[in-house]
Amino acid sequence: MDWELRSLVPDGLRIGAIITGEGGVSIEATTTGDGAPCPECGCTSRSVHRHRERALSDLPCMGRPVRLLVRVRHFRCLSPLCPRKVFCERLGGVAAPRARRTDRQGRVLLAIAHESGGEAGARLARDSGMPISPDTLLRIIRRSASPDVSNPVALGVDDWALRKGRTYGTIMVDLHRHRPVGLLPDRSAGSFAEWLVAHPDVRIISRDRGGEYAEGGRLGAPRAVQVADRFHLLKNLGEVVERIMRRHADRLARVPAPGCQGMPWPRRDRAASRERTRSEMRDRYESIQELSRRGMSKSAIARALGVHRHTVQKYMALETAPQRRHRTRGRSILATHEAYILERWRQGCRNAMQLWREVTARGYRGGYGSVARLVAHLRASENTGCRPSQPWPRLTPERSVGLLLAHERDKQEQASIDDLKALHPELCESAAALEGFARLVRSEEGEETERGLHRWMAAAGGSGAPELEAFVVKLRQDVGAVLAGLTLPYSQGQVEGQVNRLKLIKRQMFGRANFDLLRERFLNTGGASRRARDHPVPIFGSTESAPVGIS
Ligand SMILES: [Zn+2]
Repeated sequence: MDWELRSLVPDGLRIGAIITGEGGVSIEATTTGDGAPCPECGCTSRSVHRHRERALSDLPCMGRPVRLLVRVRHFRCLSPLCPRKVFCERLGGVAAPRARRTDRQGRVLLAIAHESGGEAGARLARDSGMPISPDTLLRIIRRSASPDVSNPVALGVDDWALRKGRTYGTIMVDLHRHRPVGLLPDRSAGSFAEWLVAHPDVRIISRDRGGEYAEGGRLGAPRAVQVADRFHLLKNLGEVVERIMRRHADRLARVPAPGCQGMPWPRRDRAASRERTRSEMRDRYESIQELSRRGMSKSAIARALGVHRHTVQKYMALETAPQRRHRTRGRSILATHEAYILERWRQGCRNAMQLWREVTARGYRGGYGSVARLVAHLRASENTGCRPSQPWPRLTPERSVGLLLAHERDKQEQASIDDLKALHPELCESAAALEGFARLVRSEEGEETERGLHRWMAAAGGSGAPELEAFVVKLRQDVGAVLAGLTLPYSQGQVEGQVNRLKLIKRQMFGRANFDLLRERFLNTGGASRRARDHPVPIFGSTESAPVGIS
């Protein structure tokens, strides 16, 4: 059986023999065509001087390394004026002059090198039947042309640590095409401006707050709109509010964290009333089932028992008596005052009525019974030798900021925030400021947002909290970019994703993270789909060649 193998070898070659051995597959081939043009003068010559065998490693076949052994011809140049006397024919489309691998293997190795780097890439290539050393893979990266980075219109820029705490570089991302377009070895305004001058189409610059990139943008692309990242703004404001809350940490500690029930003192016993409800429901269920068996209509049963028709319908459909729905008990309204009562208890106050009067004066709206039960519990634990303490979780500055930034809160969380705002005017102001700014960040109404921002700055600027006022001063200095950040759809999310990818590549490269090598690998692996589009890798032959068949 003779296999049609033409499609497996590149155009311009004819297969002579295929030898399968221990080390892999060797394919002997000869060139087709009568003559070849001289690379010096271009004159075609048919005068063969001698033959030579060129060994080219090629893409593996069934996991085995493949070597193309091409018998190439050396021709005499017949042009009398040409300085070249003898030349070797070129293998255009197969391999570059003097190359030791085919072009198609080179493309696959480059892709492996970009994705996996030297060491891991070499292991991967060897296991796939293309033995190569890590150093050679790195040389392939260095020799490859930088990707064509067309001019981005919307640019995201941020810094990244070349050596953390020491050297920082700059990363640039095309926000429309979702791909990295530049990597600079420093983060100065000057080099960013220079890069922008070389990429004159940039109209949007999304950046972190202020600093070098704002300056670089003004210098290099004065007409571009600068966008301050809204999520960074919100995060910065969160840190400001957290600092304010830290000043009030002792006040904050009075508020139990959401989900915390407060001290485990015994609540009013509701077991009897629960049992009463249960037996009522059971009786009603049995009556309805009985009347229904006797053939009474739903509305007749409803009238006879004095219940709603829907209840009759529901109970008739049930197999067994309904269970009382379990309700989770909310936090006691005494919880925010427990710390105070405990403090007074330590000071020696044992009078429940006195304590009830005191917490009522501090805003407690509940009855005397709860205070009395708490005092009884404290007395009991004192008698058994347990020292009453405050083991239950309290609201912390971090938790408060987290709750204020949350998209939505449940009832308990809202209760904690309400308690917090009631503690001190400054806490109330800063909490409201953070909530208000979070609303601005999440709102999607352009003009309303602009008015809202100015209202917000006026309110927060006059809040009396120095940290908050300082934040507003800095915000006013960058107000154009802040407003753009709140109204335009651009943010730094993508850029942060690319910084993480860059870190991963850097870590993979261990000590070999030379900047140029890192840059090549980073820019070339920006999006798998992009490289696949720009450099399709034919695995066997070209797509136009005839399908493999049996002749
Ligand atoms: Zn010539």
